[in-house]
Amino acid sequence: MADIVLRQIRLLILLGTLIATSVGFAQSSLPPANVVPGEYIVKFKGQPSTAKVQGKLSGKVNFKGRAPMAGMYHVQLKGGVSAKDLSDDPDVEYVEPNYILTKADDVPPGEPIETFSADDVAALSSVTYYQNFAPTQLEQAWQVKKAFNAANPQNRPIVAIVDTGFNKNHSVVTATNAMWRNTAEIAANGVDDDGNGYVDDINGWNFINNTANFADDQGHGTHVGGIVLGVGLDILSSSLDPAIVQLMPLKFLDSAGSGSTSNAIRAIYYAVNNGAKVINCSWGGGSYSRALQDALSFAYQNEVLVVSAAGNAAANNDSTAMYPANYDVPSNISVGASTDSDVLAYFSNYGVTSVHMAAPGYQIYSLYGNGYATMSGTSMAAPFVAGLAAMGIREQPTIKAYQLKQTLLDNVDVLGSLSSKVKGSGRANVLKFINTLRGGGFVVSSSQPTYVAVYKAEGGSTVGSASGGGGGCGMIQDVADKLPPGFSGLVGILLLAPLAWAAFMRNRAPESRRKFDRFRMESSVTIQCGDQTIVGNMKTISMGGVSFDAKQALEKGGQVTMRIENPGGGEPIEVAGHIVWSSKDQSYGVQFSQVESGIQNTINKWTQKLSKAA
Ligand code: CA
Repeated sequence: MADIVLRQIRLLILLGTLIATSVGFAQSSLPPANVVPGEYIVKFKGQPSTAKVQGKLSGKVNFKGRAPMAGMYHVQLKGGVSAKDLSDDPDVEYVEPNYILTKADDVPPGEPIETFSADDVAALSSVTYYQNFAPTQLEQAWQVKKAFNAANPQNRPIVAIVDTGFNKNHSVVTATNAMWRNTAEIAANGVDDDGNGYVDDINGWNFINNTANFADDQGHGTHVGGIVLGVGLDILSSSLDPAIVQLMPLKFLDSAGSGSTSNAIRAIYYAVNNGAKVINCSWGGGSYSRALQDALSFAYQNEVLVVSAAGNAAANNDSTAMYPANYDVPSNISVGASTDSDVLAYFSNYGVTSVHMAAPGYQIYSLYGNGYATMSGTSMAAPFVAGLAAMGIREQPTIKAYQLKQTLLDNVDVLGSLSSKVKGSGRANVLKFINTLRGGGFVVSSSQPTYVAVYKAEGGSTVGSASGGGGGCGMIQDVADKLPPGFSGLVGILLLAPLAWAAFMRNRAPESRRKFDRFRMESSVTIQCGDQTIVGNMKTISMGGVSFDAKQALEKGGQVTMRIENPGGGEPIEVAGHIVWSSKDQSYGVQFSQVESGIQNTINKWTQKLSKAA
């Protein structure tokens, strides 16, 4: 009996935590949401047939592009239709705007890029000029790396360059045979020979205009791809070695360096489904997208590493999130930019929790157009790590992506100059990393941990100053004084209604609470704040879940309805509450003052079927 009560309490704590996670964003200040007007990503529960989805959305939307995966649709709303009209459908899991993402180089608009001709580079190569001069021990690693074997595909891992496109005709690219080749596709026959949904995709894809022509009309993607290529060989040398990677260009950023989340997601699914082992994301934005997080989760499930640029706003990603860099998917690695003298580049974002490591990203030589250029940015740092990861996969072809990430982090050079800048204070060291993987003691994981996504509110939050509230906002009220003695933290506020349960929980020993940290339950939580719907997955219950923007919710009246799906398929529970401000905790919370006693019985009934997760 006590166990069941504990489980009920854990469930309530979870629900409390769902809201409480918004606190972590309380001090953040994000740019306004940047969206493609009228466009949304609609995710259906399960994988309903396209015909069923078309029937449901008929007359409400125009379908854009193709579905990146079953269950997810990119649509444009027709006149008079709101996003809420779509999210009201019980078969819809979530609806979110199609956010804009941008390349993450540090090239101010209108400022010329320093370019070099092949002759310039020939002069440089006579004095052994590399792409950067940071002491990463790259050249030493070339001496010990696994020998090149063109016949073994595992010897040339595929790296997806999700970017502005790529110049596959650059002399360095052709001379090194760097392009990925979809061997199941026949070029230019107008047929999707391999049935992957893309016609004539022999080297990559352009997700903007849905063609096989991914020519780089911006320059960024070619530079990024050249950095990936250059981790495995000296691309500025007059005698070029064969590429030890295969570059798969997936164009979703346009000539201005901007693209939509829906196309980024399509590119990520394409990369995973067509054999990429590493996906480079030298771009991002401040708007949280659950759909993009789901795409990264898909990469993780398929053991694909994602390398993300930390961003160039000289900002702290721990407080101001940059996406995809900040998604906590275990195979996603966020990279800041360091200089040749091993300090963080002046523009680079940082964060001792959320930026995992640094790599050279200041004045990096690489391919540009048909020639060469130096560019700076975390856009240039991420592909160094992507190329490094690919080099590591050659040494241990069965390594899991999360383990690859850990090995990258474990083999950095720890630098005082990077302390308080990136996690572990480290800058990539190629030789250490390769030697660790080559060493006889390295054991490849046989399986990878389950990742349960923790979803956040759309668009992050801008709660503003901690002392805010009051004026003009009638929903805010000070509840700190109403808390029982000894009760602290937002969870306390959240549990105002079921005080007896909370008191019970308080008296449990920590170890007996931990025993019930994880349960398995087939359900989901929906939180409605005005016209904003947030959905959390509760298949595995652990600390964490969905959160929402308290300020945004306040602007919409501060009313919150939380709905817990009935795991048995019957009527869901709905609990109404409103946003409150606690001056004691300096944080927002939700007061569920209208919790009825019947809910306790219902949760009791549902949780009887809970069993401990493996
Ligand atoms: Ca095809």
